[in-house]
Amino acid sequence: MHDLRISVTDRCNFRCTYCMPREIFGRDYEFLPRDQVLSFEEIGRAARVFVELGVDKLRITGGEPLVRRDLPVLIAMLAAIRRPDGGEVDLTLTTNGSALRALARPLADAGLRRVTVSLDSLDDAVFGAMNGIDFPVARVLDGIAAAQEAGLAPVKINMVVRRGVNESSVVPMAAWARDAGVILRFIEYMDVGHSNGWRLDDVVSAEELVRTIGERWPIEPADANYRGEVAGRWRYLDGFGELGIISSVTRPFCGDCTRARLSAEGQLYTCLFAVQGHDLRAALRSGASDDELRARISSIWNARDDRYSELRSEATTGLPKIEMFAMGG
Ligand code: SAM
Repeated sequence: MHDLRISVTDRCNFRCTYCMPREIFGRDYEFLPRDQVLSFEEIGRAARVFVELGVDKLRITGGEPLVRRDLPVLIAMLAAIRRPDGGEVDLTLTTNGSALRALARPLADAGLRRVTVSLDSLDDAVFGAMNGIDFPVARVLDGIAAAQEAGLAPVKINMVVRRGVNESSVVPMAAWARDAGVILRFIEYMDVGHSNGWRLDDVVSAEELVRTIGERWPIEPADANYRGEVAGRWRYLDGFGELGIISSVTRPFCGDCTRARLSAEGQLYTCLFAVQGHDLRAALRSGASDDELRARISSIWNARDDRYSELRSEATTGLPKIEMFAMGG
């Protein structure tokens, strides 16, 4: 267990068609009441215990993490956590970028190191349809610039590729990323949750993406930065940086997975495709000691046998999986 993803809210200001489609997550949808969401103190304590158990990377996510009020306060708490060897933890955050112009600097000042920004197209019509609220590309680009100015670099960009929706944006996004000095990562469209109507036919495979990019700019595979790295890395032969491809559908990497997820309501999930979590909030709120928390987390982790992506089939896609925005993407 090296990587803990912490969801700080189940709410989001976007309604991406592949994640929180507006038909389902409309005005009447009931998000978690405030008292069921972990407080900053609870998150900070849980994170410290996870770091004591070997986690060295914390990723803040959601929902949209920047909609959680006073987020820099939490970032400062997490940035102060030290690993058992005294080293700092790698502290990063995944965001849709919509509020980065206002928050990049306060987050960096609080101790955030890097950000990953999700952006599925540079074309306003395509992006607006995918984010479900017609949010303009220019505002996300401005947020990315703000992150770079605040030193939250290198900025990584997540692009989910969906057949027939934003395939035409693949090459323009790569061209932009090469110039903008950001690391683009293509994500195969996944069957997370069960409200996005996922079909295998909608997935643009890693193989196809490598071919498309390779026809435009020669690329070669690059070594992983560390074992369990999610994205397969590719390097441009002309020296214009690298790109990543997250191929959870066509080339599952369950055997190397070192990621745990803590949802906004304090459920611990050992797989992105889990149908059930483990309630840490109850332990946190019932006066459990740090030793008891450590023992509980260890026993959950040691009993883990998830390998959903390796078993994926017509039968598994129908399982009542937890939605990604609820679990923490
Ligand atoms: N709101 C933040 C954001 O937009 O980055 C953080 C949460 S979001 C759930 C995290 C990442 O999951 C985003 O990059 C998003 O594009 C990706 N994602 C959501 N649903 C997905 C799906 N069905 N397949 C692949 N990636 C997905």
